Amino acid sequence: MHTPIHKQTSKNVGIIGAGFAGMAAGALLAKEGHDVTVFEKNDSIGGRARTFSENGFTFDMGPSWYWMPDVYERFFARFDRAVADLYELKQLDPGFAVVFADHEAVDIPADFEQLCLLFEQIETGAAEKLRRFIADGEFKYRVGMDDMVYKPGHSITEFMSLRLFGQALQLQLFSSFSSHARRFFKDPRLLALIEFPVLFLGAMPKDTPALYSLMNYSGLKQGTFYPMGGFGKVADTFRDIARQAGVQFRTSERVENLETSAGRIRHIHTTSQSVAADVVIGSADYQHIEQSLLSSPDRHYKESYWADRTFAPSCLLFYLGVDKRITRLRHHNLFFDQDFGLHAEEIYKDKKWPTAPLFYVCCPSVTDPSVAPEGHENLFILMPIATGLSDPESIREHYYQLLMDRLEKFAGEPIRDHVVLKRSYCVSDFKNDYNAYQGNAYGLANTLGQTAIFKPKLRSPKVSNLFFAGQLTVPGPGVPPAIISGTIAAHEVLKYLNSQL
Ligand SMILES: Cc1cc2nc3c(=O)[nH]c(=O)nc-3n(C[C@H](O)[C@H](O)[C@H](O)COP(=O)(O)OP(=O)(O)OC[C@H]3O[C@@H](n4cnc5c(N)ncnc54)[C@H](O)[C@@H]3O)c2cc1C
Repeated sequence: MHTPIHKQTSKNVGIIGAGFAGMAAGALLAKEGHDVTVFEKNDSIGGRARTFSENGFTFDMGPSWYWMPDVYERFFARFDRAVADLYELKQLDPGFAVVFADHEAVDIPADFEQLCLLFEQIETGAAEKLRRFIADGEFKYRVGMDDMVYKPGHSITEFMSLRLFGQALQLQLFSSFSSHARRFFKDPRLLALIEFPVLFLGAMPKDTPALYSLMNYSGLKQGTFYPMGGFGKVADTFRDIARQAGVQFRTSERVENLETSAGRIRHIHTTSQSVAADVVIGSADYQHIEQSLLSSPDRHYKESYWADRTFAPSCLLFYLGVDKRITRLRHHNLFFDQDFGLHAEEIYKDKKWPTAPLFYVCCPSVTDPSVAPEGHENLFILMPIATGLSDPESIREHYYQLLMDRLEKFAGEPIRDHVVLKRSYCVSDFKNDYNAYQGNAYGLANTLGQTAIFKPKLRSPKVSNLFFAGQLTVPGPGVPPAIISGTIAAHEVLKYLNSQL
């Protein structure tokens, strides 16, 4: 972000939500001298990246994959800090493991040349194709990070002036990820490996722009990292940086209403006070802010707009403490032992509880002794599901047994009998805890029709001092995009305040 052109007098900035987007935006605006208050309904910061601790276990409630490390570095550099001073980042090797049918487990090595060899073993000629596929992903990543992703997405003209316009075809903003991947690979295992980041965090690969092969570059070439202490440590770091810049955090304080007059927010009404605000950034879920905190004349999007969007999945999660070690598990384990296409259909098209789900098991205690008592294992199990499903205890338990059957068979040892702590989390929890539309876990999907300028607007067209950040606006789901989103929102707020001088 550029330093503002004019020295501004300090303004009151209210931020709704203490997730990564809100904390990033708050820190940057406080650094520019503004009075920033972040209101968070929950009793702790971090948003979807909160943690909970119980009986010696500490669970990251949401994110576990640390990809795009340069985005975190770039943010900290604005405060003259570096990741190395703030937390210990370990590169995982293997980066992750994939379990295919018949319990065939494939370790994805951190070393890229080793990975090429592995691809070649699975499909003749795939090593060279992987090199080309990843080189193309790297090109998209570099152009994307330098020229595109930090744009507010107000209009197409932002992209026209850029080198990017000439590069648009190469970036494949409007062609499909699935056809792109199939031009390189045929083996279903390789396709599953290439398509999973899109499927887990976004949408059907056929509806996702091929641009997102930049994610494969990040995951397979830059590497998969783990912040020691977990993602909660990263969230705490953002909070600390924001506090040092002067941000006030008000947790357990829900924003209930944004009072406007003459097209501007005048006051923020929370569960305990009313505060005058010059500018507001809504970093909670966009739909909630528009539909629940603004009165109807101030809303830009109708309820039908949200109903027509493609949301990224919700998920069923289990946080488990296990009283023994499980030797066959890696840190990240993707269970792709069932049909990828059917599960995707049941998440995005024919929305229902899945027939034969894929799932993911994170076992951070493989890397980090601080997340479980000695001799114990910390497990986080995630099964992506459609948004909006009803999630009674009986259904959660049905899937718990189903996933544990598969996990135990793969591990070759009993696990259920060793579970000493168990918590589930699903659609209704996302709604209650985060005001998440239809209980979405990761916001709005990055589909062909919902990228960049086609996302909900970062600045309200109706309320001049209301801006948005977070996973429902640009650039999309994931912690790095949330950080980028907060950065763009802060930049747009500074431009707005400059224009008011
Ligand atoms: C299970 C799961 C796994 C994930 N895995 C990964 C991963 O491996 N890697 C990765 O990069 N990303 C992952 N993600 C995505 C990533 O966590 C999110 O995209 C990111 O954290 C979103 O940040 P945010 O600031 O946009 O929103 P949030 O984190 O949702 O923050 C918004 C905040 O607003 C608060 N709020 C809501 N309404 C109000 C109100 N009225 N008043 C005050 N506060 C309010 C909410 O409580 C919340 O704290 C995962 C997400 C989930 C759920």
